[in-house]
Amino acid sequence: MTDAELLLVFDSTIDPSGIAGWAQHFDSTGTTTTTYRLGGADVMVAQGPGTLLPLPADLPRPRQTARASGGFRLGRRELFPSGTAVSIGSAVIGDGDIAVFAGPCAVENPGQMMSTARAAARHGAVGLRGGAFKPRTTPYSFQGLKWAGLDLLAQAREETGLPILTEVVDPRHVDRMAEVVDGFQIGTRNMQNFELLTEVGRSGMPAVLKRGFGCTVDELLTAAEYILAEGNDQLVLCERGIRTFEGATRFTLDLSAVALLKRRTHLPVMVDPSHSLGIPELIEPLTLAAVAAGADALLIDVHVQPEQALCDGKQALLPEDFARLMSRLEMLALGVGRRMAPAPAADYSEIHDALTPDVV
Ligand code: PEP
Ligand code: MN
Repeated sequence: MTDAELLLVFDSTIDPSGIAGWAQHFDSTGTTTTTYRLGGADVMVAQGPGTLLPLPADLPRPRQTARASGGFRLGRRELFPSGTAVSIGSAVIGDGDIAVFAGPCAVENPGQMMSTARAAARHGAVGLRGGAFKPRTTPYSFQGLKWAGLDLLAQAREETGLPILTEVVDPRHVDRMAEVVDGFQIGTRNMQNFELLTEVGRSGMPAVLKRGFGCTVDELLTAAEYILAEGNDQLVLCERGIRTFEGATRFTLDLSAVALLKRRTHLPVMVDPSHSLGIPELIEPLTLAAVAAGADALLIDVHVQPEQALCDGKQALLPEDFARLMSRLEMLALGVGRRMAPAPAADYSEIHDALTPDVV
């Protein structure tokens, strides 16, 4: 027995007898196969000595083949060289455009959520972020509004037209949350909560998997496999800073991981400079650098009254700073031959503010 793994991608139009023929071929060489439905294709993973033999010429040709090892299989770039686009509601991540999700760290109250959501929409975000379930370092900190927070996110979506991305912390919440949210966020502290990953994978819902702040790029890629192995390719990987010896910023934003991930995986890459830096003045330069390094999407903390925020207020941008960041980003996009993802709320105007005054 050998650990050699061979991946074969077949177009979904292939006759099932073709796949069965390949499975029989591998079986006859003492090689096991598992086939996954992913990205509109059938991906066969073969493991064993037969993967080292010449491939038979009388079986239908796979669209792509790749070698794998170490448990990093379905996320490999070679399987889908042109990349995977992920749709979180109306927002598309990974189609070449730059997609920005913005909003408060935590959903706090109706006024805060609505006015921040309006600011996000007005300045060109394509999606709303906001935590209803907050995994906090100490149990004495604000833990989020939980289910009531989800209702507020849904109201904000109703008003702005922006899809909602929010953190899921418990596998038992997945089904109930899936009825409301457009995309799940899996936080840095849960990157290796494998039950949660599997449950999110099974749900078929789009998800953003944040890199554990003490985890390597390889560990992020193999954690992602838990979701992919459930047949769910609607997955975005998020670099949000890792812990290093450097204490001047909250974490160290690992932009080399962004450039590396873009080469190693077909999954889109998001960057969260807000949680990484913890310093609002640094968010704009690092957002620009993230896009230059190849990021497909950004996750930015915005708050209408950061000084009153119940969570991470120190790192949140004021709406006017977010507006400036978005216009700088637009200029950078031109320079690197990209464009800002068109916001569903492009015609969202000041009139909404007149109709629904901010109550904070
Ligand atoms: C968040 O985005 O709200 C969050 C808690 O981020 P992280 O898991 O990266 O700390
Ligand atoms: Mn936060």
